Amino acid sequence: MSDLHPYIMPIIDRPSTIFVSGKGSWLEDEQGTLWLDFIQGWAVNSLGHCHPAVVSALQKQAESLLNPSPAFYNKAMIGLAQQLTANSVFDEVFFTNSGAEANEGAIKLARKWGAINREGAYKIITFEHGFHGRTLATMAATGKPGWDELFPPVVSGFIKVPYNDISAVEAAVDNDSLAIMLELIQGEAGVIPATAEFLHELSRLARKHGLLLIVDEVQTGMGRTGTLFAYEQFGIEPDIMTLGKGIGGGVPLAALLTKKRFSCFEPGDQGGTFNGNPLVCAAGQAVIDTLLQPGFLDSVQRKSAYLSDRLGEISQAFQLGKVRGKGLLLALDTGQISAPNIAAKAFKQGLLLNAPRPDTLRFMPALTVSEHEIDQMIRRLCASIEGSHSVGRKMDA
Ligand SMILES: *Cc1c(COP(=O)(O)O)cnc(C)c1O
Repeated sequence: MSDLHPYIMPIIDRPSTIFVSGKGSWLEDEQGTLWLDFIQGWAVNSLGHCHPAVVSALQKQAESLLNPSPAFYNKAMIGLAQQLTANSVFDEVFFTNSGAEANEGAIKLARKWGAINREGAYKIITFEHGFHGRTLATMAATGKPGWDELFPPVVSGFIKVPYNDISAVEAAVDNDSLAIMLELIQGEAGVIPATAEFLHELSRLARKHGLLLIVDEVQTGMGRTGTLFAYEQFGIEPDIMTLGKGIGGGVPLAALLTKKRFSCFEPGDQGGTFNGNPLVCAAGQAVIDTLLQPGFLDSVQRKSAYLSDRLGEISQAFQLGKVRGKGLLLALDTGQISAPNIAAKAFKQGLLLNAPRPDTLRFMPALTVSEHEIDQMIRRLCASIEGSHSVGRKMDA
């Protein structure tokens, strides 16, 4: 389909549909057709499409100030950083424009800290199938099979080990080891959670060897898993964290957070023309203010349980596999049935679903999704599975 608009660089095979507006869990295309969106720009529209609080914050900010330059403070940057640090174990924030850029910042911060405090230790242990972004360094940190050979020469210093395997981590530690960097739930890999036991052991190992613990919460942060940050649910305390995706409610915003004692950038080490501009930070303030309203995160957990139960019923009806994940980052194991095939059928039913693996469907709806919308999604999903599978029984949703 990429030949439809030959002036757009064909980095992915896009369908011809053009969406023109969105509200909550729904998108509307040029023809006026409504689509139920359980992708939400890859978990980016945390409050759904065009949430009134985000829209109003953007409108107000757009009328007063867009970008005084990253070399000056602005009110939105200050306010959002205060909210993030007041509600986490971190002391300082550096805003970026994408998750990859936040992770690049985390890698730079760790390397600088290693140069100063650990006699130049530089190696960062990362995990097979982990995902950290598409810049050269974050691709090198990523554990997608084959990625560490693309675009050579590859940035060195990343040691990859199997996820949830503490002895593999232990075996990888040497004198040059500086940090461990991981997702608490591997999102792009297909929603694979770390076990609490592994994370506790990992924390202990990091302390024992003086390694920094860097969590990439670009996908799991900002309410996605039912708490503001996923690390809260695992009872660990990371040293450095990155955020992205849902933090801006749809606009390009991401962040690098650190504890004071690891904050070692000197003027000139880190920066960026658009970083921390008031427009995107105002959207970020609207998002975090909404997430912190009493009862909001509880409602995410309730809807998670509801979605998870409905998916469990589907799994039984069609003899599929397990439901996994936390909050509103859930996956359904489709067993023998091709998940990309189901997602393609769902697209024809007006349902946007993602299949990160041949046997995995991923559900990342707006955190504001209603039970009624979950029911509507389930109905369309059933129809899509029936269309992909001849043995499946019919299901009343
Ligand atoms: C999406 C993602 C990234 C990359 O974020 P971009 O904004 O696309 O650069 C990094 N880490 C994780 C865990 C992600 O899910």
